[in-house]
Amino acid sequence: MSMDVTFLGTGSAYPSPTRGASALVLRREGECWLFDCGEGTQTQFMKSHLRAGRITKIFITHLHGDHFFGLPGLLCTLSLQSSPDPNKPPVDIYGPFGLRNFIWRSMELSHSQLLFPYTVHELVPTRDQCPAEEFKEFSDLDRDEVSPQGVQGRILHLDPVENSYLLVEDEQLVLKAFRLFHRIPSFGFVMEEKPRTGKLNVQKLKDLGVQPGPLYGKLKNGTAVVLENGVTISPSDVLEAPIPGRKICILGDCSGVVGDAAAKLCCEADVLIHEATLDDTQEEKAREHGHSTPKMAADFAKLCKVKKLVLTHFSQRYKPAAQRGEGELDITDLKRQAESVLDGQEVTLAEDFMTIEIPMKK
Ligand SMILES: [Zn+2]
Ligand SMILES: [Zn+2]
Repeated sequence: MSMDVTFLGTGSAYPSPTRGASALVLRREGECWLFDCGEGTQTQFMKSHLRAGRITKIFITHLHGDHFFGLPGLLCTLSLQSSPDPNKPPVDIYGPFGLRNFIWRSMELSHSQLLFPYTVHELVPTRDQCPAEEFKEFSDLDRDEVSPQGVQGRILHLDPVENSYLLVEDEQLVLKAFRLFHRIPSFGFVMEEKPRTGKLNVQKLKDLGVQPGPLYGKLKNGTAVVLENGVTISPSDVLEAPIPGRKICILGDCSGVVGDAAAKLCCEADVLIHEATLDDTQEEKAREHGHSTPKMAADFAKLCKVKKLVLTHFSQRYKPAAQRGEGELDITDLKRQAESVLDGQEVTLAEDFMTIEIPMKK
């Protein structure tokens, strides 16, 4: 089962010709999950090998414009390309409290009627996710309104025991959100596949006298079988250890995490995608704006023992290496700064349209 991440926008603050505003796609089994949707994300989709029509879930890390101003336009274009189908499951949209109102108002004011159902689930932040003077309750939003389309989404509060938010869980995977500190409340997301059943130990099966055939399938599916000689064989007798799933962590803008859940949830992730808006020489300025430097990102990656760190959300002054003009800042400085914290472990600098494969574990 293939899984990959494609960056559609790797710049901060606004889209430029060299870096789009924040957006990335996690693709698994042909389904696309979009994380952030900065202005211009729909055109970035068209330039990429991905199809926006495959989006089934959207996650917004925080309500700064460079992370979600592309959403109304993208939704309207998706609607133009879709045909009414009463059986179509809704597109689930997750984001901070206030997002639902933004989407509904945008649709209402522009007289846009989406032809597909969608549901907006809101995460309620806590006050310690931003400077006190920036925190907004949004208590004036009209919460009693009836959904213009389909189901009204959930309001998700922090689970005080887990210190996180459970967003998605099915037989195959779990997706949780955790809190970040930024100028306004921001969130990180971790998607983890559940372990897969281990391989059948063929030698053991032979020794026990189980012939290849339908019994193999039953054991693999967790059913005990009784042989002709009356002996019962349990799956645990012949299955090897379960195969761990893949874990990928996508963090929104931040100058740090809030609470201890983030480090636990991101522990030993296969890929950690972290912002690095400014280089290490500008740490003070980065912190002041609620952002990170390569060292700050790498410190967190080291704490979590992640296997691969990918930096993104660069100030537009850092052009991709191939497009750097004379006298312009060198993006590879950021790579070196992060790698020096990680004892030489290679760090990836995201660029628009870059795809990273995350292979299945064997
Ligand atoms: Zn941003
Ligand atoms: Zn931001």
